[in-house]
Formats: sequence, structure tokens, C-alpha cells
Amino acid sequence: MSDRSGVQRATAAPASANPVPQRTTWQRERVREALTDARGFVSAQTLHATLREENTGIGLATVYRALAGLAALGEADSLQSPEGENLYRACESPGHHHHLICRSCGLTVEIEANDVEQWARRTAEQHGFTDAQHVVDIFGLCGPCAQARTGERDAD
Ligand SMILES: [Zn+2]
Ligand SMILES: [Zn+2]
Ligand SMILES: [Zn+2]
Repeated sequence: MSDRSGVQRATAAPASANPVPQRTTWQRERVREALTDARGFVSAQTLHATLREENTGIGLATVYRALAGLAALGEADSLQSPEGENLYRACESPGHHHHLICRSCGLTVEIEANDVEQWARRTAEQHGFTDAQHVVDIFGLCGPCAQARTGERDAD
């Protein structure tokens, strides 16, 4: 983890001229950076561990809050793993979209799903719901992981 070339960031000078409206602003920025550096979906605990290595002094509760804030702003994706854990990811696509996630290696593909959009809207309408939202993510094994698994089985 030492060859982080290209990461050279001016240490945020305490800007006395700049009144900070929210105390959590720099912390949220730091969490956002850590999220961007992470590959695939990560939990708050994982990010917190990363930030602790860097001695940022950011607490787990703050990480949770920052992630929820980023997700609310649409700057991070959030989803629940099959184990029920909340996972987050810095999102590459700005608008509403879905994900294909490899259960084994965490590879994530952002996908559009027009069928799902239509089905969700229609279903909500049929039940008299408006302003409906949905989260649909597909978990599975990516090609290479599935192949590796088959290879293991053949070797037995
Ligand atoms: Zn996404
Ligand atoms: Zn995979
Ligand atoms: Zn959708």
C-alpha cells in the first residue's frame, strides 16, 4: 500500500478567511476520497479502517454519516449486500442506474435497465403509489471468477 504514486494533495491549510459552514465538510471530503480509492463496494468499517491507517482521526460514526450524505447527494451508490450489510461505492454514472456485482471479486458493472424502470413505474402506479424509487442490483459471479471456480472443481 505504499506505492500510491500520483497522490499528492496539498495539506488543507486551516483557512481562517474561509468560514466553514459545516464541521463535517473536510471529513466528508476525506471519506469521499477514500471511497474513490477503494475498488468496488466497501463497507463503512472497511473505509474507517483505511482512514485510521492514515491517522485522520475520523470516527466510525462520522464515516457512516458522510457515506449516507454522499449517497443522498447521489455521489455514492449504496446497496445492501446479500448478508444485509450496507455497502458504498463512488459512482461513475451520475444518473439512476443499476449494478452487476461479482460476489467473489467485487467487480462492478453499471447498467441501465429500461425494463426495470418501466416495470417499477407501472407496478407502483397499479398500487396507487407515486414518487416511487427502487434499488435493483444483481449479484453473481463474473466470467473469470466462474471459470476459476470450475477449474478448482475439475482439479478435485
Ligand atoms: Zn453506480
Ligand atoms: Zn469476479
Ligand atoms: Zn432503475
